[in-house]
Amino acid sequence: MEFKKCVRCGSFFVTDGDVCQNCMPKDKLDIMKFQNYIENNANDSANTISLNTGINLRNVNRYLNQDNR
Ligand SMILES: [Zn+2]
Repeated sequence: MEFKKCVRCGSFFVTDGDVCQNCMPKDKLDIMKFQNYIENNANDSANTISLNTGINLRNVNRYLNQDNR
């Protein structure tokens, strides 16, 4: 078993994902917002995406790196 630190709230948890059980619904919601936005604004920078979607810049960068497009 591997303990991971939740990227959203910083608490430790055991799972395969990047976020803990508490943050999973919020993260899914943000990913949906992110994907909807990216569909029409594929060339926007992480900063612009964060500003327009209200998603934390750190999370935007994480989604970009995960390539959830
Ligand atoms: Zn969390």
